[in-house]
Amino acid sequence: MAEETIFSKIVRREIPSDIVYQDDLVTAFRDITPKAPTHVLIIPNHLIPTINDITEADETALGRMMSVAAKIAKEEGIDEDGYRLIMNCNEHGGQEVFHIHMHLIGGRKLGPMLAK
Ligand code: 5GP
Repeated sequence: MAEETIFSKIVRREIPSDIVYQDDLVTAFRDITPKAPTHVLIIPNHLIPTINDITEADETALGRMMSVAAKIAKEEGIDEDGYRLIMNCNEHGGQEVFHIHMHLIGGRKLGPMLAK
């Protein structure tokens, strides 16, 4: 069994966080150290440690993560100007929290996709 992270506690509202959306499959909340005016993390409610652990059974939740990203981008007023969706995997990807999450980042021009 994979070990739970702080994100499971956020899903269950056991610790404070700024939740902007929640349903039976996914939760979205503001990143604690935002990299841009809008920086929201969208996660499946159930624990999937890394993208490598995704199975077909997770596809409904993953699809919901995408549609919720579009909905939040619209609510934040960044849909027309644009934004970036990022998912990091393991060490080279820079993953720090081992409960998969999609970063929704926008509200300013983001520049080149990758730092050197
Ligand atoms: P990663 O590097 O794993 O893709 O991103 C993890 C993200 O989770 C980071 O942007 C970090 O700021 C955010 N984060 C870590 N702990 C917490 C927390 O307790 N609450 C919130 N809201 N964000 C967190």
